[in-house]
Amino acid sequence: MDFAFTAEQEELIRTLRGFARKELATRSQHWDKSGEFPASAWRQMGELGLLGLRAPAEYGGQETDLLTTGIAMEEIARGDFSCTYALQLAGLAGEIIGKNGSDEVKKRWLPGIISGESVVAIALTEPSVGSDAANLVCRAVRDGDEYVITGEKSGISMGMFAHVVMLFARTDASAKARGVTAFAVPLDAPGVSRSQLRDLGSRSIGRAVLSFDHVRIPASHRLGEEGTGFYQVMRGFDFNRVFITLACLGSAQASLEETMAYVKERKAFGKPIAQFEGVSFPIAEAATYVDAARWMSYRALWLADHGRPYTKEAAMAKWWGPKLAVETIHQCLLLHGHYGYTDELPFEQRLRDVIGLEIGDGTAEVMKLIVARELMGRETLPY
Ligand SMILES: Cc1cc2nc3c(=O)[nH]c(=O)nc-3n(C[C@H](O)[C@H](O)[C@H](O)COP(=O)(O)OP(=O)(O)OC[C@H]3O[C@@H](n4cnc5c(N)ncnc54)[C@H](O)[C@@H]3O)c2cc1C
Repeated sequence: MDFAFTAEQEELIRTLRGFARKELATRSQHWDKSGEFPASAWRQMGELGLLGLRAPAEYGGQETDLLTTGIAMEEIARGDFSCTYALQLAGLAGEIIGKNGSDEVKKRWLPGIISGESVVAIALTEPSVGSDAANLVCRAVRDGDEYVITGEKSGISMGMFAHVVMLFARTDASAKARGVTAFAVPLDAPGVSRSQLRDLGSRSIGRAVLSFDHVRIPASHRLGEEGTGFYQVMRGFDFNRVFITLACLGSAQASLEETMAYVKERKAFGKPIAQFEGVSFPIAEAATYVDAARWMSYRALWLADHGRPYTKEAAMAKWWGPKLAVETIHQCLLLHGHYGYTDELPFEQRLRDVIGLEIGDGTAEVMKLIVARELMGRETLPY
């Protein structure tokens, strides 16, 4: 066992911590209030190599290990939680497009995604199916050298801004998960329309409903074989769920550090409030849980990097980490008294932001079903 980061990882943490503090934290509230897409931050993250961490070297990526990518998520989240969606989505594109795309699709999209010039989204959820994604109804029908896509996708992060979407559609009505195929769909294609959702948090990621009305794409834009789409996205979700957990924990950790500094300064009843156990014990408890969840996440990614099964560990991290981050940030907000409740401090925004990922990429209930299935077998599933 080795619990130490490599020298390269230490260097990455130092660089990203400075970047997040200087370039992201200073603009985070503006992006939240205006709902503006942080295009310049996307490009800066591209320049830092963060959007190519999981992409093939041939297209400008770095093929970095998952653990290092997870650490990067944590650091970016300290500055602006919504900017971690850039790493998530670029990471999924590296996996899904990088491993399954035709040369034409990879050449067209990967270099731009890696540089931060092109924005990619992933569209699985639909108005009538979310947790039960294998039952999706959006369909893709082959017509000569093209596919015709018809249907609606809902709740899509970056939906308002993305240039291309990794879309999952049904190519076989008689099969469930095995009837789902992945496609790269340019969002300037005729027949695509978008409408924005008004979210509680992460307002700069333009979550949207995407509608596809007989959208024609070349057959070369299919990602992998017909019927393999659901498995591609689930493989991606295993590591992405841990990335999400680490982003939530990064936000919680930053909140804890700011709170520790504050309670040593703030006085009540003639002494620093840190001297009251009612203040120091919740901090001690939160720090313990955050540390445990972080190491659970690192271990899950370590297992993945070593080619070992980690679906159970990823689901464990995903049901617990975002919930823990919500509780920790809430506690930090309270420990700042009424100032914590204002938008002069970052806690209310962080709280709104992390709640989204208690739902996105799989709810806690669905994660617990996965954990139970992995522990006790498929006979424990209710379906
Ligand atoms: C911030 C955010 C970002 C997102 N980004 C994307 C994106 O980029 N792309 C994309 O495709 N989707 C995205 N989503 C959608 C997200 O993946 C879905 O919302 C999620 O999978 C849940 O689906 P649903 O909303 O349809 O809820 P439902 O599936 O309708 O679930 C409703 C409730 O029922 C519970 N439930 C459902 N089934 C069971 C069960 N078997 N046992 C116990 N409880 C159950 C759920 O846990 C939940 O509490 C995003 C969502 C959020 C909030």
